[in-house]
Amino acid sequence: MAAPTVPAAPAVPVVELHDVTKRYAGGVHALRGVGLTVRAGELLAIVGPSGSGKSTMLNVIGTLDRPTSGTVRVAGHDVGALSDSGLSALRARHIGFVFQHFHLAAGRDAVDNVADGLLYAGVPRRERRARARTALERVRLGHRLDHTPDRLSGGEKQRVAIARALVGAPALLLADEPTGALDSASGEIVMELLHELNATGTTVCVITHDNDIADALPRRVRFRDGEIVADSGAREGSRA
Ligand code: ADP
Repeated sequence: MAAPTVPAAPAVPVVELHDVTKRYAGGVHALRGVGLTVRAGELLAIVGPSGSGKSTMLNVIGTLDRPTSGTVRVAGHDVGALSDSGLSALRARHIGFVFQHFHLAAGRDAVDNVADGLLYAGVPRRERRARARTALERVRLGHRLDHTPDRLSGGEKQRVAIARALVGAPALLLADEPTGALDSASGEIVMELLHELNATGTTVCVITHDNDIADALPRRVRFRDGEIVADSGAREGSRA
């Protein structure tokens, strides 16, 4: 007999921004009253032209920078109430970063690069390396475990970076122009991988200036001049 259908409760918010502004020294108003909620399980793009405020958003959501005013909550924590060391702990525990230029350590193999993603999580070295191997298998790099970055293609380096971001099972994966340094075939593989990871439950936020990349994602949040000018909203039928 089929189980009765129970309406799904809304997924918990992973990111909540209320009326966030950011004004840099010199008077540039990079964010002008931004409100945004991202729920667990979403895959979204923050998209806009150069200078629209995307990097500032990345820094604020990633708790790398504090807003001038407004409130930011990440994984339920009020960022404004945390000390700098509290923010570091929040980042280590809840946020995985992927950058355009990979930021891998030269001379260290793929396993060590990924294991470094657990350095601040208090995991012993042997377990860090075991979890790194599993994460590399998840991004289909099980055959490249002992390769240093100079022996990996651009697309493979980005997959190592994604494995490093994921190894600590963060609430949120923040990817800043993740295909920006890749040829289109490698870029497609990286985007497919982000879709796959999202399908298995990871919340993913991609920051991009590229409309084609954004248009392939279920939710697009468009920025212009420090404001959200369009938000396609969470995909229909999602838990959000
Ligand atoms: P995007 O990532 O969309 O290119 P940014 O967030 O980098 O946009 O920039 C938004 C605005 O803030 C731009 O006018 C930019 O020049 C300015 N800006 C960014 N970072 C700084 C900074 N550290 N100091 C002063 N102005 C900045």
